[in-house]
Amino acid sequence: MKHFDFDLFVIGGGSGGVRAARMSAQRGARVAVAEVAAMGGTCVNVGCIPKKLYSYAAHYAESFEESHGFGWIGEAPRLDWNLLKANRAREISRLNGIYIGLLENTGVQIIRGWACLRDAHTVEVEGRQYTAKSILIATGGTPTVPAVAGREHVVTSDSMFDLDPFPKRLMVVGGGYIACEFASIFRGLGAEVTHVHRNEKLLTGFDEDVRRFIATEMAKTGIDQQFMREVQAITRTAGGLQVDLKHKHGDAHSVTVDTVLYATGRVPNVNGLGLEAVGVSVSASGAIHVNAHYQSSVPSIYALGDVTARLQLTPVALGEAMVVVDHLFGPAAGKKRRQMSYDFVPTAVFTHPNIGTVGFTELEAHKTFEHITVYCADFKALKHTLSGSTERTLMKLIVDDASDRVVGLHMVGPDAGEIVQGFAVAMKAGATKEIFDSTIGIHPPHGGRGICDHARAGQGRRRSADGEDVHLKHRPAPTAGQRQHAVAHSLSFV
Ligand SMILES: Cc1cc2nc3c(=O)[nH]c(=O)nc-3n(C[C@H](O)[C@H](O)[C@H](O)COP(=O)(O)OP(=O)(O)OC[C@H]3O[C@@H](n4cnc5c(N)ncnc54)[C@H](O)[C@@H]3O)c2cc1C
Repeated sequence: MKHFDFDLFVIGGGSGGVRAARMSAQRGARVAVAEVAAMGGTCVNVGCIPKKLYSYAAHYAESFEESHGFGWIGEAPRLDWNLLKANRAREISRLNGIYIGLLENTGVQIIRGWACLRDAHTVEVEGRQYTAKSILIATGGTPTVPAVAGREHVVTSDSMFDLDPFPKRLMVVGGGYIACEFASIFRGLGAEVTHVHRNEKLLTGFDEDVRRFIATEMAKTGIDQQFMREVQAITRTAGGLQVDLKHKHGDAHSVTVDTVLYATGRVPNVNGLGLEAVGVSVSASGAIHVNAHYQSSVPSIYALGDVTARLQLTPVALGEAMVVVDHLFGPAAGKKRRQMSYDFVPTAVFTHPNIGTVGFTELEAHKTFEHITVYCADFKALKHTLSGSTERTLMKLIVDDASDRVVGLHMVGPDAGEIVQGFAVAMKAGATKEIFDSTIGIHPPHGGRGICDHARAGQGRRRSADGEDVHLKHRPAPTAGQRQHAVAHSLSFV
């Protein structure tokens, strides 16, 4: 039998790569992981973790503001951007160390440098070749900026955490979740934010009510929304970066800012990996094609996480890693082989307010189920009865009439991301509307009454804790003829 240096060679020490490497080593495999940058990948260094830390930082501004209504008086403190950056950097390097420790403690060999494939069983790093029975590509994704005049003046999300100085005037270009999050975070930290998006609505793929609602709430925080506009050119002037914008229907104007963030998408990180020479098949965007075991077109080479461009989320990369480990080295003692399911994966968007969502959007549900019922509530949270904030909360449930299963849940409001996590468990377990209705809620929750109460209310109007009308809508599924009007229907949300 051919001898290999390793049972598994992992390229990329990010979320998926580290999980696969250390769990394989725990099963007794001889494992190496190559990493060209800081250990932990996108999530730890320039993604989820620093972003959420900055989102916490940004929330303090509104908390100081809102505290006056609760009797707190005095000047709000000012942000020391350099202190925030330094504290974040310290925490991230602590996490880098934890990742290294986790690998070393399980006996994984860490190899520093850029890795590329030489053949189906050989990886080269910094001029040295290593052989492995299996190779796992977990190289993640990288931001992409379109070819616009003045492109050299813009930054991507990778640079946002260490900007120097703090951008007093920030333009964010893009309508996806990363763009929305940075717009909210830097607005909260005190920047004047102009949010440019080429379409009418943010967050393609999210529920239509959520898309409409979050745009309204973000605008209330003072973000200048310039939608239906394309950037024509970016020029450095004495006063800053001049960005020429053109409305889709004609008119043009310029905005001058300190920093332009392009958050217009990410592409799989495959450049220079040598995939073509080895015969690994990729899509037009570079995403590695894999089967249910995350095996590529070359049987000894596997790929997972963002480089396969499925659901680009850390917990998804972690889940996929466990499937690969079980497939290659067998499940943990006494456990079943894991399967990956992409159903009911909860997603949070850390805008201000947050979005939490799980399951089908209303449009998807209309296409998937014969008849659905939609319950929506839009209300003022109990906290804001004193805070003076005009922020509102949206809760929406989508129920498949045939099974009574709750198949979609969407929320916009404080801590929506955390709240939806719990509902995801129930929905994955097949919870019905009847179960939601019979669940006794905690009291008093965020909105004076919980989501179960809102859902239970069914058709009609009820009054919330602050005495305002809670608008609830029982939306029967459209007939076949009505289905084509689903977009307009969903926008008729009260
Ligand atoms: C701004 C931002 C915010 C995000 N927020 C969230 C969030 O809130 N929640 C969430 O779930 N997800 C979030 N994500 C997505 C999440 O970070 C990714 O889905 C996740 O990191 C993917 O893990 P991965 O293992 O596929 O790749 P990564 O974590 O990107 O790791 C890939 C690693 O491979 C290394 N590498 C690449 N090529 C090579 C090579 N040839 N040789 C050696 N090393 C190489 C890279 O340096 C990197 O460390 C966010 C992403 C961004 C950009």
